[in-house]
Amino acid sequence: MIRDRETGRELCADHLREDLEARVRATIRSHGMVRDGDRIAVALSGGKDSTALLLLLHAVLPEWKGVSLVAVTVDEGIAGYRDETLGAAERLVAGLGIGHRTVSFRDLFGDTLDTFLRGREERACSICGILRKKAIAVAAREAGASRLATGHNLDDEAQSVLMNALRGDLPRLVRESGEETGLFIPRIKPLRDIAEKEIAVYLATQGRWTELPECPYTQYALRAEVRTLLSGFEYRHPGTMKRLLASRDILKRSIRKEAIAPPIRRCTRCGDPCSGELCQLCALLPSLGAGDRHRHA
Ligand code: SF4
Ligand code: ZN
Repeated sequence: MIRDRETGRELCADHLREDLEARVRATIRSHGMVRDGDRIAVALSGGKDSTALLLLLHAVLPEWKGVSLVAVTVDEGIAGYRDETLGAAERLVAGLGIGHRTVSFRDLFGDTLDTFLRGREERACSICGILRKKAIAVAAREAGASRLATGHNLDDEAQSVLMNALRGDLPRLVRESGEETGLFIPRIKPLRDIAEKEIAVYLATQGRWTELPECPYTQYALRAEVRTLLSGFEYRHPGTMKRLLASRDILKRSIRKEAIAPPIRRCTRCGDPCSGELCQLCALLPSLGAGDRHRHA
């Protein structure tokens, strides 16, 4: 049984599953995330959010005509962490009968994240984020996907709103990840209205909970501080996260993006979309001593 502290609503395991499926369906419809005939690549790390995302999409997407699912996984090369989550991802897709494509930093960039981060551990998540974004885009393209679904939940989204506000990064705060510019595979976040706690209870009550190690670099992330702060607020003032997200949505709808975000250009080195001369990846790789084997996505 789970109790929503904001509304006082209580749900048993079956009703929680039905409720989450209905809310994911509603989120997909209200944001126009999926069209008939889409091939959806699900970014599957094997952790709890992406596991729940794959299970929920597998349950609701048959309602759309001709939609297919494929899982894509990135092996960053993080000792003591990624091997276990990769194993969990492989077992899940095998059980659901879904295709699976894995790409690794070693193949794309010439070495593991652990090697790239030696002496730069405090920048772990920003470096990893840039490399992962490229790796996922390559995997999704190779899998023939027309959309890329990620497991960001309500807590992640609320944390991102606050982090971007704290950094004063207004363009990122209002950037529409699902935007169809023709330059990216549009990204969708079907779990954006589902709280982390609901996902944990859903997995536990569906017998899908697996205890997995945490990435060793999370200790360096600003997100970890923001997460603690926001969880405290949510506990004392239920609904805080939803209100943060709703404020961002209103802001997105009401401002003229061109007024604050630079126009999208092409990286002069690799041709990927970016806002400056070079994309973040091409600017980063030489400083890591990384290979330049990444393919265009
Ligand atoms: Fe990469 Fe940071 Fe996530 Fe670890 S916690 S996988 S370093 S983004
Ligand atoms: Zn580039």
